Amino acid sequence: MRTQVGIVGSGPSGLLLSQLLHLQGVETVILERRSRAYVEGRVRAGVLEQGTVDLLNEAAVGERMRREGLVHHGIHISLDGRLHRIDFQALVGSAVTVYGQTEVTKDLIEARLATGAEIVFEVDNVTVHGFDGARPKIRFGQDGRRRELACDFIAGCDGSHGVCRQSVPQAALTTHERVYPFAWLGMLVEAPPVADELIYAWHERGFALFSMRSPTRSRLYIQCTPDEHLDEWLDDRVFDELRLRLGGQTAERLQTGRCLEKGITPMRSFVAEPMRFGRLFLAGDAAHIVPPTGAKGLNLAVADVRVLARALAAFYTSGRSDLLDAYSATCLRRVWKAQRFSWWMTSLLHRFPGRNPYDDRVQRAEIEYVVGSRAAQQALAENYVGLPFEETG
Ligand SMILES: Cc1cc2nc3c(=O)[nH]c(=O)nc-3n(C[C@H](O)[C@H](O)[C@H](O)COP(=O)(O)OP(=O)(O)OC[C@H]3O[C@@H](n4cnc5c(N)ncnc54)[C@H](O)[C@@H]3O)c2cc1C
Repeated sequence: MRTQVGIVGSGPSGLLLSQLLHLQGVETVILERRSRAYVEGRVRAGVLEQGTVDLLNEAAVGERMRREGLVHHGIHISLDGRLHRIDFQALVGSAVTVYGQTEVTKDLIEARLATGAEIVFEVDNVTVHGFDGARPKIRFGQDGRRRELACDFIAGCDGSHGVCRQSVPQAALTTHERVYPFAWLGMLVEAPPVADELIYAWHERGFALFSMRSPTRSRLYIQCTPDEHLDEWLDDRVFDELRLRLGGQTAERLQTGRCLEKGITPMRSFVAEPMRFGRLFLAGDAAHIVPPTGAKGLNLAVADVRVLARALAAFYTSGRSDLLDAYSATCLRRVWKAQRFSWWMTSLLHRFPGRNPYDDRVQRAEIEYVVGSRAAQQALAENYVGLPFEETG
């Protein structure tokens, strides 16, 4: 088997890279260890920056998103049961679109398969070879047989536990990590949203986020401990806790509904640099993780792929390698800004167990500052809707 770009992973970064390269006439094969149904059903992110929306449109996969996505011109911060609106439109003239990662993934898979693209699902034992030379190879198992994909480049789009980053010699990689002493319990429910925009709540008992995926589906999150057991969180307990943390009229209006999915996500910040090793390029969660508070994980993956697709297309159309050489540095500038914002939103809104009371008072003062200051809100809004893309080449 041979292709130009071998892609490991069919999450948003692998699929979008394949689609963007296809539009530029570059061939790809995607190798994915899970089944198509599993990949399409994985409930994760849901807030798209305007730049992500624009790129999905440019990639000719935005038709359903334009119809079904919910455009939000702001968010609310809830403090002591009172809602304070951060008006993105007035502050920075932009918006975000709420459209689930599941839907982005389905649209991309459908678009890729419609052109006859090769996505090989349910492969096992993927290994990457020769990326420090001119002829990289990906070996994998399929239906009990060992196979090999020869390619010009390998794109490691295989998420935080994937094989690509782990295959890079340790000495060539610097990693930075921060683990937070809490997690998010998330529940997707069949119930109409209690508000028409997301609500980020600070509360003595811990952070809560009211979010949604559609006019009939709500996505609820509460801060919990990382070692919490899901079976201790029956649906009613989650609703009760959310009501307590949201408080005020929001709590009174909150509707319960059938639980469609429930899970616990530990909170972690992580960056591996550089993001390129010879002919292996890491993109998305394979290279970096952010806590979900700033809604940046999926958007960062898309931003990496935007840079990589342009660099690879320039290589194939005009033999240029300068954009490939600049890939890691270009992405990392954005990655670190998103790291900073995600860390800041997380530090602003969560309760830190066992913390010095002085730090708690400073945190309270900072939230009061944010909800009371146009300047602070503008900085939040500018980052939340997505910083402008750095144009290269
Ligand atoms: C539980 C959870 C909840 C999240 N919630 C939010 C949120 O609310 N907001 C937000 O912005 N972000 C959230 N994120 C982050 C966001 O979903 C990710 O940033 C996004 O999925 C990154 O896309 P990706 O394609 O880079 O990686 P992934 O989506 O992880 O895709 C990687 C793909 O590679 C495949 N793979 C892995 N290893 C191999 C292998 N060895 N061989 C072949 N295939 C392999 C995986 O099966 C997967 O399909 C969440 C992440 C998780 C894990």
